Amino acid sequence: NRSVILKRHVTGFPTEDDMELVTATVRLAVPPGSAAVMVKNMYLSCDPYMRSRMTNHKEPSYVPDYVPGEIIPTFGVSKVVESGHPDYKAGDLVWGMTACEEYTLITTPESLFKINHPELPLSYYLGVLGMPGLTAYAGFFDVAKPKKGDYVFISAASGAIGQLVGQLAKMTGCYVVGSAGSDEKVNLLKTKFGFDDAFNYKKEQDLNAALKRCFPEGIDIYFDNVGGAILDAALLNMRLHGRVAMCGLISQYNLELHEGVCNLACVVTKRVRIEGFIVTEYFGTYRKFEEEMVGHLKEENITYVEDVAEGIENMPAALVGLFYGRNIGKQLVAVARD
Ligand code: NDP
Repeated sequence: NRSVILKRHVTGFPTEDDMELVTATVRLAVPPGSAAVMVKNMYLSCDPYMRSRMTNHKEPSYVPDYVPGEIIPTFGVSKVVESGHPDYKAGDLVWGMTACEEYTLITTPESLFKINHPELPLSYYLGVLGMPGLTAYAGFFDVAKPKKGDYVFISAASGAIGQLVGQLAKMTGCYVVGSAGSDEKVNLLKTKFGFDDAFNYKKEQDLNAALKRCFPEGIDIYFDNVGGAILDAALLNMRLHGRVAMCGLISQYNLELHEGVCNLACVVTKRVRIEGFIVTEYFGTYRKFEEEMVGHLKEENITYVEDVAEGIENMPAALVGLFYGRNIGKQLVAVARD
């Protein structure tokens, strides 16, 4: 059983060397009498929040820190190979919290979701039909509360979540602009995901000017995936009663001291609502979301781009790549295709 362990807690940007591929010869099995299940991991997810779990936090975070020397937990799409649980049998396909290894013994199978639509690409359950999909859906509809005609801005717009928020916003009748870190990604936003406009934030001298150019009448909804300078510029461009859905701040995750936001006064003068959210609070709504999103995929209202690294040995590089914008679309790792 090959697995990826965290070697040490991380400060600054994570490196591949913070992780290690190890091989164990012990054969995993469900202990007699236990209600655990053993799964074969087919696809494993690389997500930005994993960087936070690599930190040795002084104050408890919203998720526990990873433990050096232990296998890194992550979301996966897996096949049950042995079950001690009455609700699962060998061959069942599931998604949920597993670990960066080929086989995992899952002691809390109640936390897994059975895969109801194996006719769609199974890897979608790590993206559009999994945690990022639910994040996009809940963050946009429940937190940002869009209306037809709203002006919507999305950062990290070509990523796992951003590409979906953009498409959901277009389906709602909004005007949608995204920012991304390369011309290739900007092109994808405009040609594949149907954004009305997009810009490469790395090429803009003045982010405020870029947003003024794209939104002469201002922004109603900013779906924030990055925080930092882009959030600051977006605040300057919010309209009265605008909403900022704070999904994540990837530009800050590797900094010891987070950058200050200078334009908070705009929140008062423009009566902006800034609201953070965590997707796990919406897991209870997953089945409703899944059916709706499956419908959109089958009707081709929604398209989804993935970036698939091959082999568990490439997990560390794929995870580190998120913080350099190397991924185009949802980053995942294919471990076993059947
Ligand atoms: P992505 O697929 O968007 O991958 C991360 C992307 O972030 C990179 O490709 C890169 O794109 C961009 N990025 C990296 N560093 C920077 C930087 N310094 N400044 C600006 N952009 C940067 O990731 P996800 O869609 O999975 O996640 C997006 C955000 O949502 C993250 O902040 C994540 O933590 C958050 N999140 C929040 C959840 C919640 O419950 N609130 C749940 C899941 C995720 P580019 O090339 O465009 O710079």
